[in-house]
Amino acid sequence: MNEYLLTLERLYPHIVQVESIGRTFEGRDLLLIKIGANPNNPTILIDAGIHAREWIAPPVALYIINQLVENPANYRLYQNVNWNIIPSLNPDGYEFSRSSTWNRLWRKTRQPNQSSSCIGTDPNRNFEYYWMFAGASADPCDETYAGPQPFSEPETAALATYALRNRHQIKLYISFHSYGNMILYPWGYTNDLPDNADELQWLGELAGLAIGRVSTLNSRYVVGSSTNVLYAAAGGSDDWVKGVTGVGLAYTIELPAGGLFGFNPPATSILPIVQETFEGITIFHAYVEAAYSKN
Ligand SMILES: [Zn+2]
Repeated sequence: MNEYLLTLERLYPHIVQVESIGRTFEGRDLLLIKIGANPNNPTILIDAGIHAREWIAPPVALYIINQLVENPANYRLYQNVNWNIIPSLNPDGYEFSRSSTWNRLWRKTRQPNQSSSCIGTDPNRNFEYYWMFAGASADPCDETYAGPQPFSEPETAALATYALRNRHQIKLYISFHSYGNMILYPWGYTNDLPDNADELQWLGELAGLAIGRVSTLNSRYVVGSSTNVLYAAAGGSDDWVKGVTGVGLAYTIELPAGGLFGFNPPATSILPIVQETFEGITIFHAYVEAAYSKN
């Protein structure tokens, strides 16, 4: 993945820039690719792979990057809107989930915990907004362990630092997860709805319909707030982005399921999933362009 981003930067230096926003516990660079024609344009921030086992998420991010940079038919998509994309936000966990079949369902980071032999924190419970308020565990051996304190994980801290620094430019945030065909928005810590829930619901439904229209897998997305559609889970990245940075539009997208445990769509489904999801992404782009571009 990193090789691909760096290759694009080399081949398309006029529209692509790659930067490391930080390092993982094991020392891997967290690479973010910027795609755009003008740094002052409104920006869409996307990450994938914060949960290690959700293998379909990074390919979705990579396909968006591929389509933006390498498909000339899409050049309009980066004229008035910038894209900041992190295709692998938890590469330590991702590599661990690949290292043997026993580790395939690894979800968390790989940082050890004091006073426990259990390793890792759920990075999507580790953000500092109503941290540990609901749906998060204080037990290091649990899959939803929120960490010893907010931003204990270098991966979540790196994303937060980047998002805060660029909060005036960022207009929309999407975090890709799997699975369940859901387009979710805050809040995850409460079943209360944010002030702009109507806007979030409407835009999410438009994107979901666009995916459904082209889907060859019969994908049908459910749209709603995390707590109401899925379950209460505080400390998620979308809650933090919306609650702390002031970015109005924040989503978590649960991609389609596949395989015995849901995290293994067959190889033949990868291309259909990434292609249909890109249709939804063009809807988010159109809205950001219409609402925030000055051009
Ligand atoms: Zn997830």
